[in-house]
Amino acid sequence: MNIHEYQAKELLQKFDVATTRGKVASTLDEAEQIARELGDVDVVVKAQIHAGGRGKGTFKTGFKGGVQVRKTPEEVRNAAAEILGQILVTHQTGPAGRVVNKVFVAESAEIAREIYFAVLLDRATAAPLIVASTEGGVEIETSPQKIAREKIDPLAGLQSFQTRKLAKQLGLESSQLKNASKLFEGLYRTFIALDCSMVEVNPLVVTAEGEVLALDAKFNFDDNALYRHPEIAAMRDIAEEDPREVEASKHGLSYIGLDGNIACLVNGAGLAMATMDIIKFYGGEPANFLDVGGGATEEQVTEAFKILISDKNVKAILVNIFGGIMKCDVIAQGIINAAKTVKLSVPLVVRLEGTNVEKGKQLLKESGLALITASDLADAAKKAVKAAGSKFQNSNPK
Ligand code: ADP
Ligand code: MG
Repeated sequence: MNIHEYQAKELLQKFDVATTRGKVASTLDEAEQIARELGDVDVVVKAQIHAGGRGKGTFKTGFKGGVQVRKTPEEVRNAAAEILGQILVTHQTGPAGRVVNKVFVAESAEIAREIYFAVLLDRATAAPLIVASTEGGVEIETSPQKIAREKIDPLAGLQSFQTRKLAKQLGLESSQLKNASKLFEGLYRTFIALDCSMVEVNPLVVTAEGEVLALDAKFNFDDNALYRHPEIAAMRDIAEEDPREVEASKHGLSYIGLDGNIACLVNGAGLAMATMDIIKFYGGEPANFLDVGGGATEEQVTEAFKILISDKNVKAILVNIFGGIMKCDVIAQGIINAAKTVKLSVPLVVRLEGTNVEKGKQLLKESGLALITASDLADAAKKAVKAAGSKFQNSNPK
């Protein structure tokens, strides 16, 4: 699950991590009002989307930059007018971009230095790891050699010798050490307490007055621990998510939307990967990755199928099930149910194998559904690619 920058900062403040004063706005009036409340300071207006690279992003209108600094409340209002409701394209959004529904209006910091700082879970050592670099800000990707790494013992926690070492590696002065240590410790505590898999602050800045602040923040949470943090689960912004994924998650299905035109209904992530690979191998592009898993019910399969059919980009559906715990007849019945409620307007290629396969095939046959059967994975992929490319001819109407 992802959250917005303004939400990340609310969480950070609970752990005493210093950030700039600010509030979120969804209208021009609100943006202007917040700027007034901030007083006689420079104000930054920041587009809130679930993607980074906003500073260097461009709006579809041609307006440049999702992070704007202004001097007066009127100017803040005008900047917000360029941002709110517009589509921002950054190197992380893809060419389609994201609609900006909210802006964060905050005090602008007088930046002396920008640092990259992240706490993450290192799989190799199975322990938290701090990764930091003097080359913070929007240019970090270009100089990956200047990176400091500090492994944290999860039982002992972040030790003061480690914060001193990091501060030194980052070239911080001794007068800044106290502020920096407080910030590092606060970020580490946040990471642990909120069951994060990553807390990334880029930039972490040193101001002209020697303050150390988190100016941007990105969190990744361990979804399996979200039940322990209802306040974080409540921060979910469905407007930022793929509506197909939102619908799928309501029914307990794993769905990942992609850009191609062949929908894939599979069981198990491994089979999903293999299915996508082989589709690509035969020159096709998957439209999604829908994993019904091992224990899906007939209702879940029905919902899964409805999601696939309702996607306008889908030109063919490939059902590739290796029945184990998941039984082929349950899948078949789900397909039949869905096809009854939603018109099946694209070719359907089915490859079933494993538990109750004969029963499943029998059900599909008796249903009178027009479908293309396949003998193995390669055969199924070839047929799906062909079907997606050619205009659908219903050769076997009821
Ligand atoms: P993104 O990573 O999406 O581009 P950031 O929040 O990192 O967004 O902002 C991009 C740049 O804008 C920062 O590197 C910093 O230079 C500047 N910036 C962001 N917030 C502030 C702020 N409160 N005051 C001054 N400059 C800021
Ligand atoms: Mg940033």
